[in-house]
Amino acid sequence: MKKRAAPAADSDFLDIIDDRAERGGAPDPGAPTWRLLIVDDEPDVHSATTFALKDLIIAGRKLEFLHAYSAAEARRLMETTPGIAVVLLDVVMEKGDAGLQLVRAIRDELGCADTRIILRTGQPGYAPELEVIRDYDINDYKTKSELTRTRLVTSLTTAIRSYEQIRMALESAQAMDRLVRSAPSLLTQRSIGEFAGQALRLMAELLGGDAVDGVFCTRRLPPGDANGEAPLYVAAALGAFAPFRGQDVAAVADAGLLDALERCALSGGRLHENNGIALCVGAGDGRALLYLRASQPLNEVVRRLADVLSVSIATGLENVTLFQQLDFFAYIDPLSGLPNRARFVSMIDDCLRRGEANRTVALIEVDHFSDINAALGHETGDELLKAVAKRLRAGFPAEVALARVSGGKYGLLGENATVDPERVLALFERPCVVDGQSLMIQPYIGLERLTEADGGGADVLKNATIALSRARGERRQHWQYFTREMQTTAQERLALLHDLRHATEAKRGLSLVYQPQVEIASGKICGAEALLRWQNVRGQNIPPDRFIPVAEYSHLIIELGEWVLRSACEQLGEWDRAGVSGLRMSVNVSLVQFRDPDFVGMARRCILDCGIDPGRIELEITESMALSEAETVVDTMNKMKSFGVSIAVDDFGSGYSSLGHLQRLPLNRLKIDRVFVKDLTAGSSGATIADTIVKLGHMLGLAVIAEGVETGEQLDALRRMGCQEVQGFYFSPPVAAADFPALVGKRL
Ligand code: C2E
Ligand code: MG
Ligand code: MG
Repeated sequence: MKKRAAPAADSDFLDIIDDRAERGGAPDPGAPTWRLLIVDDEPDVHSATTFALKDLIIAGRKLEFLHAYSAAEARRLMETTPGIAVVLLDVVMEKGDAGLQLVRAIRDELGCADTRIILRTGQPGYAPELEVIRDYDINDYKTKSELTRTRLVTSLTTAIRSYEQIRMALESAQAMDRLVRSAPSLLTQRSIGEFAGQALRLMAELLGGDAVDGVFCTRRLPPGDANGEAPLYVAAALGAFAPFRGQDVAAVADAGLLDALERCALSGGRLHENNGIALCVGAGDGRALLYLRASQPLNEVVRRLADVLSVSIATGLENVTLFQQLDFFAYIDPLSGLPNRARFVSMIDDCLRRGEANRTVALIEVDHFSDINAALGHETGDELLKAVAKRLRAGFPAEVALARVSGGKYGLLGENATVDPERVLALFERPCVVDGQSLMIQPYIGLERLTEADGGGADVLKNATIALSRARGERRQHWQYFTREMQTTAQERLALLHDLRHATEAKRGLSLVYQPQVEIASGKICGAEALLRWQNVRGQNIPPDRFIPVAEYSHLIIELGEWVLRSACEQLGEWDRAGVSGLRMSVNVSLVQFRDPDFVGMARRCILDCGIDPGRIELEITESMALSEAETVVDTMNKMKSFGVSIAVDDFGSGYSSLGHLQRLPLNRLKIDRVFVKDLTAGSSGATIADTIVKLGHMLGLAVIAEGVETGEQLDALRRMGCQEVQGFYFSPPVAAADFPALVGKRL
């Protein structure tokens, strides 16, 4: 079977040595080579081919020759060497069909679809069938006598071009597939560090994997109204740049990188270099700059896919920036830059968990702060708050934690001996100078030692508040430590519960009032929130903020809540019959109700019994409840939602803890907490938070309503932000059911 190739006698074959054609231009320095595998059992053929092709450059790249002298050897080489572009294959070797067997193995067993194959044979009689050429994707078939050098070069050039095209198509299909699968992971990241790392990894994978150096730079997120630009820093880095993670960009010792970033930042777009890419994504303070450098030049497909990926990165970045802002506001008081109440409570919790009992919590209140605010204006009030924060900070060592708990109240947490009330008072013996005015500050202090604590951080703070109110009542000493005797309020709560239980059973003294919810665009009423009122047997009106917590604590709210929902549905039916139709009814629901196994059944009965379309009922749940991880809560929400009832998150913006969770909940609306609405002057933290919530709503596809709107200015600010609905005294306070229809003609 063995053929006898006799190159010396084959003049045409020898032609390949003489027939020197064009050289194909100069190679790109650093460009990879084309791998060419020569398979032939005749050593002369190897040397003749190598000699003929050795200086050839195709598409800017040189050739690299691999040699195999049998089909078996070729197969081993193919298995272990990636990126073989072309196989120049002798058909007849150890067997007459050894070459064709190898072709089958390459395509079917090695699954190698991109490598191009040029068959050669010295014996025309061994020409393969046409089907073989077609089925095994053979590029060319030539008898050696046909193969002059020119023909060989032409054939090889065509094969390499088609290899390159197939590679690009395969690569882009694979990269696209990876992109489609991995890009959504960018949208679920919450911290900028994780997000930046993920974005950079995806980009690097696209550009060629491990050999890529890259940085992801952004600005440290300041509070929305911080002055001045924070410097760009490296939020994530890969390869050679990895050591610069966390540092300012200016510290990265790489002129190419700094130059590319600067040019990219100026143009605000993308910058493609031979083997690098710089991207500018996002806008404003949340903008990020990426720079990646691969070890090889980037082809067109990679560049285009990088553009596609940069769109996902921009969207993800917007998400993360919103999350970060909310995270920031969730734990930091933007005015003073100090930890806020939520953060302070968790600090106390941490202390209790670690068993650090020799600690004291002090709650310090600036007396008459609201009077000072009213008399001197908000700006001076804000300056005063900052001055007090500064004085407290300077007066205690760094181990003592300082927080701004609310309005004019500050918290201290530290060792018993250090957190001394006299020390606080001594700090304020000198006046504070604010806007050129000297103001004497009179602090009151309520304290609790953690050894006395019974419960968590929130309870400690509650007890310190009780102590503080005692201190305010004292004439001589302006501070008090909490003691058990101060807890007589528990007695009062018991009496309140007793009265409320009677009222619920007898349905006496309970009523609902309704507050309009107004669509900003049309100025018309679109719904009502039902609010519970209670007048006890002695004729006193007890505010819901006092009796609802007691009802929740005692689970009486389950019965009370059912009455509220049923009454609200009946009322909606009555208004419909009176011609005031199409309104939505919002009803507040407590977590205790939501956890009740019969809640869904109860709610369905109330709504169906009254013949109300469930789509017109909205349940308002508090933010902490929405974020409760409990499966039962989520399950109840899903059931209510599939019944058609919609769900709003009440008092949104202050108590948030795990926003990622929000995305998974079946919500319809966010209701901006009235504390942010109250503070809606331009540039204020309230405005920033309200604006962030509206954007977040848009992003999650949720409607947004603002509560507690009292002035035209607040309304205008909310309208500009794109908030859809408002509720508040500006339009109307809550009114009795009978007075509601008269409001329907009114316009905002
Ligand atoms: P909420 O659900 O956030 O209700 C809004 C509260 O803001 C109502 O207080 C309302 O009277 C008040 N409000 C409305 N407009 C303005 C305004 O322009 N400015 C100001 N400063 N306040 C405004 P209300 O009626 O005292 O209710 C307090 C809370 O009691 C409610 O807060 C809700 O959490 C709870 N609540 C009321 N009724 C029920 C109920 O039936 N079930 C449950 N579980 N909770 C209820
Ligand atoms: Mg509400
Ligand atoms: Mg509310």
